[in-house]
Amino acid sequence: MSKVIVVGGGPAGMFAAYFAAKNGHKVTLLEQNEKLGKKLYITGKGRCNITNACNMEEVFKNVCSNPKFLYSAFYSYTNEQVVDFFESYGLRTKVERGNRVFPMSDHSSDVIAALGKALKDAGVQIRLHTKVKDLLTHVVPDENSAGMEPQKMISGVLLENGEQMLADAVVLATGGKSYPSTGATGDGYRFAEKLNHKIIEPTPSLVPFEAKEAWVRQLQGLSLKNVSVRIVDGKKILYEDFGEMLFTHFGVSGPLILSASAAIKPDSFKKHPVVYIDLKPALDMETLDKRILREFDEAKNKQYKNSLQKLLPGKMVPVIIGLSGIDPDKKVNEISKEERKNLVNLLKALPVTITGLRGWNEAIITKGGISVKDVNPSTMESKKIKNLYICGEVLDLDAMTGGFNLQIAWSTGYLAGNSIE
Ligand SMILES: Cc1cc2nc3c(=O)[nH]c(=O)nc-3n(C[C@H](O)[C@H](O)[C@H](O)COP(=O)(O)OP(=O)(O)OC[C@H]3O[C@@H](n4cnc5c(N)ncnc54)[C@H](O)[C@@H]3O)c2cc1C
Repeated sequence: MSKVIVVGGGPAGMFAAYFAAKNGHKVTLLEQNEKLGKKLYITGKGRCNITNACNMEEVFKNVCSNPKFLYSAFYSYTNEQVVDFFESYGLRTKVERGNRVFPMSDHSSDVIAALGKALKDAGVQIRLHTKVKDLLTHVVPDENSAGMEPQKMISGVLLENGEQMLADAVVLATGGKSYPSTGATGDGYRFAEKLNHKIIEPTPSLVPFEAKEAWVRQLQGLSLKNVSVRIVDGKKILYEDFGEMLFTHFGVSGPLILSASAAIKPDSFKKHPVVYIDLKPALDMETLDKRILREFDEAKNKQYKNSLQKLLPGKMVPVIIGLSGIDPDKKVNEISKEERKNLVNLLKALPVTITGLRGWNEAIITKGGISVKDVNPSTMESKKIKNLYICGEVLDLDAMTGGFNLQIAWSTGYLAGNSIE
């Protein structure tokens, strides 16, 4: 039986603690907050999208960074096993649109309660209000390693209050940097970096975009369903998809935009790519032109500014009128073919220039983190420090929305806890 310390009481840490304790180890879970799972509580808008019930191939497709690293973890603890685990602790679940799994009650607090029950059942000792300041290591004496870098081994943790806690194994599950109010401090990166692990620069992901164009703010609150977006850097297409987006007081958001933020490499945003919004993806240029002609025909004597109401959401009409360059007071029957062509082009590719990403307070996930090259994918043990295990969002792993990020936390947490000898 080993003495195990788990640092961080989020989903990854709770799972690691549970499975280590179930294997007979003496486990203490340390959490700086006043309660466990503070971020878990706000997941899925308070409903917690626990995992996704799609097949394994789809699960891997939804991982943005380092899916291959997750092979062992995902197969060792699958999405089905996650559902079984929660059901076994009394949490009934349901599957919604896009295979998203939620608690039947629609309350994330019930997910946390099930985890609390499990931790109690496994005999995990929980210490709240306990902030870890550093990890403690010692050098493993080895006469055969002359000239080689000495192997370091974990020996415990140093708490902020100066207390040292010794352990045979430590699990680092401190999460990323998004939503700092939940305790996401980035401490884990600092601990790992000091112990020679490479850190891939953490950047906000699943995050809205800030936009250059002032007119975007006029559309604040407008949600567009069934549009397609194409994000372009010069001639290079960075992202293309169809779905729902939202205008905000700073730029653009909504499912399409959040997914794009996760799919595009962080460096690409430095070049201020442009989002082209196709407001009428179901119509090609020619059909859209005919449609506009029909509208104009029906409203022959109307002024242009009063003519697009049937084609666009009300809030958008003055914006498109302004951007089209056509005199708003012009009668529609005086609009030239050329002017109409420009309008069609605008409706098929409304440009919004991305000036940056919103910050950590709005990012659902962190892209980057502790390099997976420094971690054994079959055990989650650090390759730099013996008996140090690393799991969850603190690693350079991130995925699309839909329950995939929590699946990463469950699977890697399981593997870390279950691999401790
Ligand atoms: C608004 C929002 C909604 C989301 N919705 C979903 C969703 O529905 N489905 C989904 O799959 N994913 C969702 N996610 C992502 C998901 O919440 C994370 O991927 C997941 O919580 C990561 O788990 P973790 O255990 O690695 O880290 P965390 O949940 O961040 O837990 C880490 C814990 O470590 C503690 N800690 C940190 N440093 C220290 C220290 N020095 N000492 C002691 N304790 C420390 C922190 O206080 C924290 O409690 C959402 C994220 C956000 C922000």
